[in-house]
Amino acid sequence: MAMISQFLLFLFGAFLGHFLPRFPVLLMSRGRGFNLHFPPHPEPVPLGPHLNQRVLHLRMFYWLSLVVVVVPMAVGLASVRWGNPAFGFGLWLASGWLVLNRLQSLIGGAKPPWTRAMAEELQGVINLSSSEASCCAWSTPVWGVTNVRCSNCDKRLLIMARPDLGRKRRDGRFFGYLRLLISDGYPLIAQSEEE
Ligand SMILES: [Zn+2]
Repeated sequence: MAMISQFLLFLFGAFLGHFLPRFPVLLMSRGRGFNLHFPPHPEPVPLGPHLNQRVLHLRMFYWLSLVVVVVPMAVGLASVRWGNPAFGFGLWLASGWLVLNRLQSLIGGAKPPWTRAMAEELQGVINLSSSEASCCAWSTPVWGVTNVRCSNCDKRLLIMARPDLGRKRRDGRFFGYLRLLISDGYPLIAQSEEE
């Protein structure tokens, strides 16, 4: 019985250590007022300054988790030393994993779900669509699930899967958060699927 309760405490610690550092990405942009410039969740997002700004904000929140993670790490350490070791170990393990996960992208692992390069690529499409070389006269690039295409002539302009953009998700608050905790913001659909 004691072992089960220790195990549950460990799981609880691990959940908190996983959830807390992701708090900024999960909540900061999901309010109604933050998403006035975007269509509701599964619909394609029009390209423009609002979208670029959103990508850069989410990128900031993503790296902010490295600051927020100090809290569960410190509480975990204190709990191992003075409180409940199982709870503390769970906290420490999950938040330590997050730090490793974030830092591996610096030494050449998978890139973060939101990057400056991504915003620059989107800006490149905007520039092209308003230039002489645009796909059609009324070029309106929108970002769908797997690529950026022109909503006017339907030409594919850029193959890039869409990560989570901080919009409230269609599947409701609980499942939306659960999905984000699992995917960490990465697109759930592989880029190669459509090709
Ligand atoms: Zn077009």
